[in-house]
Amino acid sequence: MFFRYVLKNCNIVDVFSNKEYKSDILIEDGIIKDIDTNIVCKVEFNCSDKIVTSTFSDGHVHFRDLLQKGSGTIESESKACIHGGFAQVLVMPNTIPPLTNMFLVEYYKGKLRKLNIDAKLVYDYRYYRIDDINKYYTNDGKDISLKDLKKFLINFINNSDTIFILHCCDVHEPSKILSAIELFSNYDIKLHITHVSKKRSVEIIRKAKEEGFNFTCDVTPHHLFLLPYDWKVNPLPNNFRDVYALIDGLLDGTIDCICSDHSPHSNFSKNGVNIIESVYNIIFKVFDGRVSQKQYLSYISKNVNKVFDLKDRKIEIGKMASLVVINKKSFIKNQEKIYSKGINIPYLNNKFVNKIEKVIIGNNIYEFE
Ligand SMILES: [Zn+2]
Repeated sequence: MFFRYVLKNCNIVDVFSNKEYKSDILIEDGIIKDIDTNIVCKVEFNCSDKIVTSTFSDGHVHFRDLLQKGSGTIESESKACIHGGFAQVLVMPNTIPPLTNMFLVEYYKGKLRKLNIDAKLVYDYRYYRIDDINKYYTNDGKDISLKDLKKFLINFINNSDTIFILHCCDVHEPSKILSAIELFSNYDIKLHITHVSKKRSVEIIRKAKEEGFNFTCDVTPHHLFLLPYDWKVNPLPNNFRDVYALIDGLLDGTIDCICSDHSPHSNFSKNGVNIIESVYNIIFKVFDGRVSQKQYLSYISKNVNKVFDLKDRKIEIGKMASLVVINKKSFIKNQEKIYSKGINIPYLNNKFVNKIEKVIIGNNIYEFE
């Protein structure tokens, strides 16, 4: 179907070209055809008081599915991703049964391929087979001993493209991180440490990067913006001291990016938060006025793409349209529709500004009230 429309008078925040400017964007059949002022087209969307930026990416979301449908399916959670502005995600499945054989893996990947977002599977390292050629592995939310990690690295056929996403889940996070950084420096597999949560961890990472160790790391939005202490998240909710250290870590580049660890649980006693639909608003709350929009948006787009080798979504003529349209209005978190099936929604009744109103991915336009 031939569909041509213009986004008029957009306040474009182009993270990839490091530019902020006002312009129209002409889109034809899902492709950006022109970026200019005064573009004439029959179908117009007025964006004069709206921010238009590239879609976001997340290197850490937990979907569910198979026999665990009560707490999210591939379909429900992908809709939640789009509602949050995310068009590229790395999926850690957490299915029942787990994806232990190639039949289940192919079935799950087939379902991911049907989505309108780019969702890549992250494999549980425990099911690694010698003939695997996967790019992403993780210890999926479970703690891992250094001994097991070493065993995996020794048996792994060296491939410098592979990324191991390490969850450190206990009180020994700083020392675990230090040991992992030292261990991975002997192998070609790239180390990415997810959900760093402690001040001491940030200090260790900063020092290791200064000393030339090559690895990356992220922090979750809910570790940047205090959660009540009774929330069952892994790592546990942190204190002000940790929050400030994590924010400083992002600002000085010690921490590379923000990843959500979105977990759609149907039970409060389980670890995890339903957060993907709130990530942008939390980041806005933490960083707006402190650094430029381009800088904090890069934490959930450009930097994530760089860490995980994902596609850049430039706002450029000839590129596929992959855009988030943000209305500057304020809203209370509980009045909006939540697409995820997870029940643990943090920050309810908080007032946020900047509502994601439209997400454009190629030929698809998603509108949100
Ligand atoms: Zn996780």
